[in-house]
Amino acid sequence: MRKADIDVFLKDGDFFLDQYIKQKDKENSLYDDLENSNHEVFYIFTLKLISHWDKSPPCHSCDQIFIKNSTVVYVNESGLYSAIYPVPNSNQHFVFSENADFFSDETAWYKEPTIIFILTLTFSIVFILSVAIYLPLRQLQKQTQTFQQTQRKFGLGKLSERANEQVPEPIKKLSQSFNKMADEIESRVIQSQIFAQAIPHEVRTPLSRIQLVNDLLRIKSQAENTELHDDIDTYIDDINNLTSNIIMLSKLTSMESSFYETHKSNINMSVYLRSRVESLPKNNIRITRDITEDIVLRCDSTMARLVIDNLVKNAIKYTHSHVHISLKEHQEYVEITVEDNGSGIPRCKYKEVFLPFSRLDKSRNSKTGGFGLGLAIASAAAHRSHLAIEIKESTLSGTQFSIIIPTES
Ligand code: ADP
Repeated sequence: MRKADIDVFLKDGDFFLDQYIKQKDKENSLYDDLENSNHEVFYIFTLKLISHWDKSPPCHSCDQIFIKNSTVVYVNESGLYSAIYPVPNSNQHFVFSENADFFSDETAWYKEPTIIFILTLTFSIVFILSVAIYLPLRQLQKQTQTFQQTQRKFGLGKLSERANEQVPEPIKKLSQSFNKMADEIESRVIQSQIFAQAIPHEVRTPLSRIQLVNDLLRIKSQAENTELHDDIDTYIDDINNLTSNIIMLSKLTSMESSFYETHKSNINMSVYLRSRVESLPKNNIRITRDITEDIVLRCDSTMARLVIDNLVKNAIKYTHSHVHISLKEHQEYVEITVEDNGSGIPRCKYKEVFLPFSRLDKSRNSKTGGFGLGLAIASAAAHRSHLAIEIKESTLSGTQFSIIIPTES
């Protein structure tokens, strides 16, 4: 769109004509060229003088648009105006033409020094601000990541792990409160571990003395007291079993214990599983097997034994008559299932049975008789060796436990 308006153009034309008339016969007139050669250029305007104008347009491709006060006005293809004025008291006509639009952008915006300066200044400010914001943020991100790693290691059992407190706020405060909490947790865990391990050890000494005294009394005792002495031996065995299980569970769950460090080796699981089942007392229970041959796995045999033995023992203990054991290979894992046709475990108790001392049948009887530690030990051993234990209803009507062993590359 033309910014110069036609009225402004005509006013300019009137002005130049007026000036020409006033100066034309004077010395050093601005319009010497026009007078001498009939042609003169003033910045964006071209002035011409035509004698005896024959009404032809002042340019090749311009159209007449109107006549105002004997002034004929034209416009060309580029939208530039021309006007032909009669010069008073002469046979001449004064042609006044635009040779460029005064307001048109001759210089591209990106070549304008002012625009370039403003843009450079803006970019510089944005860049400096970005760097000023990014660097501290990056620093904060690194410190947060280190703090998270510390937390993760602590959560995985490295109770001695502490966060770096020599960092700026706000991470410093977080680290300090985390370290306080970690100190408290570590001391409590250590105390409870000492407690859990010390009690069974302390119980064993008087227990062995009771056993000795019982054996001495049995020698001197009447035949009718034999049953009572046998009972005392059974109770002593019970307490011995209980203390051994508590010690084992305590060591398995002790977060920094190196006692049960896992030692992986290649095990032919098909052979191993069969030998474990053979070694356990069956109590006249029918055991069926579906074992895929030659499955070799890298795992810790002690941990595998704790998991397999506890599950198979339970199945034999809680089944009515039948236990089925299978070993199958899947794409990314190997699955051992132990299922029975017992009364099963209610779905709502699936989590609870893995807690220490949890028994569905609260009254310990001679058949079941457990302390509720078998599944807790199996679960702790599985956790230590990165196995998973799953539980669901068996198709035999009892419970099915599955041991999931990831196959390593
Ligand atoms: P326990 O020494 O009492 O067997 P566990 O920790 O091995 O202790 O098992 C916890 C409880 O879970 C058991 O007391 C029993 O009630 C239940 N349980 C475990 N295995 C089975 C099973 N195969 N069938 C039914 N109940 C089971």
